Amino acid sequence: MKAAQQFDLAIVGAGILGLAHAVAASRLGLRVVVIEREAQANGASIRNFGLVVVSGEERGTVWRRAMRSRDVWLELAGPAGIDVNHRGMTVAARRPEALAVVDAFLKTEMGQGCELLSPAELAKRQPELDPGRFAGALWSPHELRVESKQAIPRLAAWLATHHGVEFRRETAVQAIEPPLIETSRGPIRAGKVIACPGDDLATLFPERIAAHNVTRCKLHMMRLAYPGFRLRAAVVSDLSLTRYAGFAALPEAAALRRRLEAEEKPALDNGVHLIVVQSADGSLIVGDSHHYAPTPDPFASNDIDEIILGEYRNVFTGADPNVIVRWTGTYASADRTMFADAPGPDIRLVVVTGGNGASTAFAIAEEVIADLFDASIEDLRRSA
Ligand SMILES: Cc1cc2nc3c(=O)[nH]c(=O)nc-3n(C[C@H](O)[C@H](O)[C@H](O)COP(=O)(O)OP(=O)(O)OC[C@H]3O[C@@H](n4cnc5c(N)ncnc54)[C@H](O)[C@@H]3O)c2cc1C
Repeated sequence: MKAAQQFDLAIVGAGILGLAHAVAASRLGLRVVVIEREAQANGASIRNFGLVVVSGEERGTVWRRAMRSRDVWLELAGPAGIDVNHRGMTVAARRPEALAVVDAFLKTEMGQGCELLSPAELAKRQPELDPGRFAGALWSPHELRVESKQAIPRLAAWLATHHGVEFRRETAVQAIEPPLIETSRGPIRAGKVIACPGDDLATLFPERIAAHNVTRCKLHMMRLAYPGFRLRAAVVSDLSLTRYAGFAALPEAAALRRRLEAEEKPALDNGVHLIVVQSADGSLIVGDSHHYAPTPDPFASNDIDEIILGEYRNVFTGADPNVIVRWTGTYASADRTMFADAPGPDIRLVVVTGGNGASTAFAIAEEVIADLFDASIEDLRRSA
């Protein structure tokens, strides 16, 4: 009888976090298998904006992880055939209190490379942003936008063809005890295992996940028909300055929050802020909202979409938004942005709980792989 194949590393989950671990592991030359219960990527990693955010990520470690992950996206985009639709982010500030947050942000170390734009400069860069509506804007050059439903399968295909990573799809992992992994299609053998189960809080190591007080967050998303203009960069507005921790933690955000509480209560009550990015065909992805529950309901109320579209109308002039697709997504959520737990010496459980996995996964994966395989992050990066 043929002996069961032995891998150096098994990764559970083929979302962006699992794939990021496969990238880092393949840089060490490891034999990797990725086990995914779905036939194709279907979770948060393909339902998101594909926006790799740097400015606005939590100050310190998370911001640095976002910078590093952005760099890895750029390294991989060419070889893996992933299109970068646009780069940078405009934070269009409608209220003076929002501009005060932008000003304060620019004075921190996170403001490096960013610029303050006057309303006229803003309109010059993006004519659909009427200067009469804005106090000014932050221009950040760091971000990039990929089409996740294209990027995730292409990254997986590139890992398979160029690094020999094996994918076992439609295979649910039921128990992990290296070197044995029990799956719905029989055992797989690997020396070490990294579980990246996303927002499945119940199947693998539920007690570990529960210890981090993890719940789930549901978001509303829409695709709008081509609006007749091209975005130079992602666009967000005042509401984002009280949601993204890198802005919201600045003392100046308190006055903005007070004003938004008076003027934008429905948005705040539904965790709405505006993010707008553009796809290659010109359509826009617009969102989002945030509702928290262990099992979020699956229903996408039009009332919430209208709050999001209301902010879109506040920001963009021109034709009324024409919604062509609607969906919801969920991600694991906790009061920290991620955790990497060690249920056993050869096992890691890694969960992004800050709604920013596309922005931080590659850096997190480098840290986890370096730790698990006793390598230095510098060596791992050098071998890229
Ligand atoms: C609507 C929305 C918008 C977002 N926008 C952004 C954004 O613009 N920028 C950003 O940085 N982040 C964004 N996020 C967050 C980001 O998408 C997530 O943080 C990230 O995708 C999490 O990746 P993951 O691989 O951990 O999880 P997932 O993508 O959920 O992947 C986990 C995978 O594990 C598999 N799995 C789970 N358990 C098992 C098991 N037992 N056996 C086999 N397979 C298993 C699942 O099937 C799944 O495919 C957004 C999220 C949502 C929902």
